[in-house]
Amino acid sequence: MKEKLLELKTKALKELESVTERSDIERLRRRYLGRKGLLTLLLKRLPELPKEERPPIGRLVNQVKEELTGRFQAVTDSLTTNDVKEVSAFDVTLPGRRTPLGHLHPITQITEEICNVFLKLGFRVVQGPEVELDYYNFEALNMPKNHPARDMQDTFYISDNVVLRTHTSPIQIRIMESKSPPVGIVAPGKVYRPDSDISHTPMFHQVEGLLVDKGVSFGDLKGTLTTFVHQMFGPDVDLRFRPSFFPFTEPSAEVDIRCVVCQGKGCRVCSYSGWLEILGSGMVDPEVFKVVGYDPESISGFAFGMGVERIAMLKFGLDDIRIFFENDIRFLRQF
Ligand SMILES: [Zn+2]
Repeated sequence: MKEKLLELKTKALKELESVTERSDIERLRRRYLGRKGLLTLLLKRLPELPKEERPPIGRLVNQVKEELTGRFQAVTDSLTTNDVKEVSAFDVTLPGRRTPLGHLHPITQITEEICNVFLKLGFRVVQGPEVELDYYNFEALNMPKNHPARDMQDTFYISDNVVLRTHTSPIQIRIMESKSPPVGIVAPGKVYRPDSDISHTPMFHQVEGLLVDKGVSFGDLKGTLTTFVHQMFGPDVDLRFRPSFFPFTEPSAEVDIRCVVCQGKGCRVCSYSGWLEILGSGMVDPEVFKVVGYDPESISGFAFGMGVERIAMLKFGLDDIRIFFENDIRFLRQF
């Protein structure tokens, strides 16, 4: 019995040496010290011994049990310490992983910049539907069905009477229909025309503006747009008003700025003219006022419109409009 006990102890200690997992220690502990463990079984056979041998063997069993329990605890503790060591081996000086931060698209940035100039001048920002009735997109703006000016603004048709808007001007009609003067608004948004080349995309952005009140003159138009150009391109940029034609304004004027690339000497960007066209403008045609129920005898107003991509290209020095919508992250990151 005594030999069996010592043999069991040696075996248990030897097995314990090769253990590396905490779950293995627990398994071993149950095998030797558990309620049905080997040591417990030996202890149960104690009554089989002669009476005088029982006390010393009993003491030995307790001794072995105590020793093994101690060893098991020690090995468990050492494994726990190793776990902690592994955790602290994590290198806290390694650089962190950066979460990429997004930002506004350059077209959105320029749209906001344009609108902010007019907000400071007292205009209000309004929006309208991109899918528009033919009536608001063309007819109410003095372009009846067979008007030649429609040729310049072909569009995508949803049906005979529903189109993707070719400009943001329909918003001006909708606002004037719903509100009596004075009206001072800018309307930013997407517009559509079926062109696609280096300077046209089928979808692009416009900002249009409208001011209607008693006694609004062409001088107010010039003052407002001059302030705008100086805010966007700097106070030293020259600009000129050049007579033009739009069906919904009379008189009409294109606004050019001195080429920001060549300072007027002539280059590829300005087609060697020294000037860059940046927006269209004019005094609202009395016919448009009649359509919305305003009295052209008592009020007057001016309107203007510009392409956001055009302004952005000039500000950022780009020569191909399509790059804005290619979603090339290397391009977009630069803004
Ligand atoms: Zn130039």
